[in-house]
Amino acid sequence: MPTLYVVPTPIGNLEDITLRALRVLREVRLIAAEDTRTSRVLLQHYEIDTPMTSYHEHNKLSKLDAIFAALAGGDVALISDAGTPGISDPGYELIQAALAAGIRVEALPGASAAITALVASGLDTTGGFVFLGFPPRKPNELRAFLTEVSAEPRTLILYESPYRLVDTLRLAQEILGDRPACVAREVTKLHEEYTRAPLSEILAYYESHTPRGEVVLLIAGAPPTEPDVWDEARLLAALRDRLEDGERLKDAAKALAAESGWDRKTIYALGIQEKTD
Ligand code: SAM
Repeated sequence: MPTLYVVPTPIGNLEDITLRALRVLREVRLIAAEDTRTSRVLLQHYEIDTPMTSYHEHNKLSKLDAIFAALAGGDVALISDAGTPGISDPGYELIQAALAAGIRVEALPGASAAITALVASGLDTTGGFVFLGFPPRKPNELRAFLTEVSAEPRTLILYESPYRLVDTLRLAQEILGDRPACVAREVTKLHEEYTRAPLSEILAYYESHTPRGEVVLLIAGAPPTEPDVWDEARLLAALRDRLEDGERLKDAAKALAAESGWDRKTIYALGIQEKTD
């Protein structure tokens, strides 16, 4: 059965491609590439001369028929300029259409800037993370976007243009607070640079060092909110109210433990004391 292979390519260092990816790119009958000129450099480096056709943001729908026609006669590989197709890159529509048409889709594991940057950032990965892709460009939309994720407890990952990085950092600090963050720049390339610091320090750094190249912005999730623990006077007042209303101490202690942040047994003991005083 013909297969559509989704093949990740390097995000900077040409060595970051798997043996299987190279074999698949050599064996398929056609490679659908986001930019054939960019991908030619990679293919020439590995002496792969498989025919290529373009598949990019502006022809991703009109090109479906041609790619399906190729799939009727054999396997096709989809690649983007760098990293994993379908991740802030064209791919989704083709993969959807192929699956809907009953075509086998196989994705190969490989490079993606988000995951590489996340791991090296040192930010929390144990509680999961949220990949947000490119944030909106317009300031009011960016503000709404950041406000929407401000309570998200997991690490945030964003792709951003170096030209908008400073403005995004400024708004992120204002809306999210001065959280730990990281800018991963030119990952796997000659001028790779990780800036790991609170947002305010990263902002100050990039206000004086114009960011160049490609960047991933990673921001720690919202800090856990402190549970609201009542003081003793408030707890005793609430306990007395309930007991005076005829509630059993056992039930009152259970209900107040859920509301007050106090331990049920401690509330029970306070209730006994109240009764004996
Ligand atoms: N599909 C790609 C992937 O899997 O990572 C992402 C493609 S998206 C069009 C390009 C964005 O990815 C860049 O603007 C940047 O935010 C990020 N990116 C790609 N390569 C990068 C690199 N070497 N260093 C830092 N960020 C990179």
